[in-house]
Amino acid sequence: MGQATRTTKLSLSLDKRDQGGANCEKHALLDATVQVLTQARTFYIDFFLAHADKLVERVAYYSEKHMEMRERAISANELLTWTEARTVETKEHPHPWPDWNFTEAFPALPFVYRRSVIKDAIGKVRSYLSNRANWEKSGKKKGRPGLPGGTNHPTLYEGAFSLELDGLDLRKTFVRLKVYTGQSWKWVNYPVKYSRYFEQRRTEPGWEEHSPKLVVRKHAAELHVSQTKEVRAKKIVESKLSPDLVTVGVDLNVKNLAVITVRQSAAIIETVFVTDHGLDQHRYRHLKRIAKKQWQSGKPVKDEHSNQQLWRHVRRMNEDAAQKVARSIARVCAAYPGCVLLFERLRKIKPKGASKSRRMNRRQANQLRGKITHYARQKAYTIGTVTAEVNSYGTSQYCSRCGARGERFSFRNGKRIRVKWGNLFCCPVCRYETNADWNASVNVHHSFFGELHWQPRPKRSG
Ligand SMILES: [Zn+2]
Repeated sequence: MGQATRTTKLSLSLDKRDQGGANCEKHALLDATVQVLTQARTFYIDFFLAHADKLVERVAYYSEKHMEMRERAISANELLTWTEARTVETKEHPHPWPDWNFTEAFPALPFVYRRSVIKDAIGKVRSYLSNRANWEKSGKKKGRPGLPGGTNHPTLYEGAFSLELDGLDLRKTFVRLKVYTGQSWKWVNYPVKYSRYFEQRRTEPGWEEHSPKLVVRKHAAELHVSQTKEVRAKKIVESKLSPDLVTVGVDLNVKNLAVITVRQSAAIIETVFVTDHGLDQHRYRHLKRIAKKQWQSGKPVKDEHSNQQLWRHVRRMNEDAAQKVARSIARVCAAYPGCVLLFERLRKIKPKGASKSRRMNRRQANQLRGKITHYARQKAYTIGTVTAEVNSYGTSQYCSRCGARGERFSFRNGKRIRVKWGNLFCCPVCRYETNADWNASVNVHHSFFGELHWQPRPKRSG
């Protein structure tokens, strides 16, 4: 039993008012809200840093299972109660600690928001403390973890927002948010860009909805709704015993972003090529411009965001391609329920030699492959498909038919030339000639089943 997670974004409509969007004032309110919540979060981060020993406190409890008193770490809810009693003015606790009087510092901040920032702060400080402990244990001088900052996308718990989604009538779909005006808190309605797509994901059976996050950017604002689903999937060792097991092998490359082969009972029953539609070339052109600009302006200053827009464009293209390829892979998996998805353990194409722009492009291509694996694994899991990583050694060099070592070649001007990155593969033993990426994809299955060249070697004695 496992859990799959996914996020669906719902855009708040911040277009011009005459186009059905919110006005600028409404956007300013969002900024003010995020800002005050960041300050409140910073307050609690400082509070927990000053009381770090409380975070690691052990609590005694009686264990029914073991029939004895045991110890466990303090829970987030217990910490929340403890913190509120010391920082918030209530009837039961009329006198918070004078240095940490939250009520005085943030009057009228709604309690749902307060709890949300306290929980955030607990998480941030806890992870900081454990990172610092690890760093101290490692004895390294460099890499001291920095103090946690207060910025984060606020989580909206019930009581701070409500979704009014009345079918697909755009005039009736909006989200009510409790926002800060600078002096007080009030409810404001924001129109949303509601779509069939969102409605379908939101109401899909089996998915449990969690509290959304409010993401406010310069020109846009979104609600990120995360959903989880319980997934029942067989373990790979169990699936491997079945004689009719279907395996979906994927070979990730640069031009052919993914070559997907489906195999059942030792025969390839389906092949899908997902090409990059010129993405590699396109990205290379942009990176060449970036490299040129960097060269013209001397060495890029560290941490300077030069060429921001170009980089954003490149990143978006990569992200988009990764999602699309992952979806193609998941679509193939969906056609074969109970199949196992196979990836090679990522081998890096080293960004060495050549020009700077070429090296940058290689690095981007490597990142893209990592992303595809990550997204495809997630998407496949939501439909109950488990992913296995296989040994990638030699998948592109050995013949998928007889297992001999072959060579890669290309045709240039009608002539065969042997090149390392040729798009064709040729086996000198059985004279098999085929697409090199397809050959590698078929080898992924061999590697999974331990056949041919990938046979488990007998253990050496001694
Ligand atoms: Zn061969």
